[in-house]
Amino acid sequence: MDKFDVTCPNCKTINKDLYLWETEGRFVCEHCGKETQIKRFERPNRIPLYSSEEILTKVFV
Ligand SMILES: [Zn+2]
Repeated sequence: MDKFDVTCPNCKTINKDLYLWETEGRFVCEHCGKETQIKRFERPNRIPLYSSEEILTKVFV
C-alpha cells in the first residue's frame, strides 16, 4: 500500500506516511487536528451499480 506526504490545507504542515488509499483520502492533520479529504482518492465505483435492464438480464438468463 502506497504512502503519501500531504500538506495540510489549513496550517500547511506536512503530514508524512499517510495511507490515503485505505482512508479514501481522509486524514487528520497531526498539527492542527483538522480532518481533510483529498478527492482524487475517493472510490465511487467500489460497489458496482447496475441499471434495471442489466438486473433483469441476470435474473432471466
Ligand atoms: Zn493542519
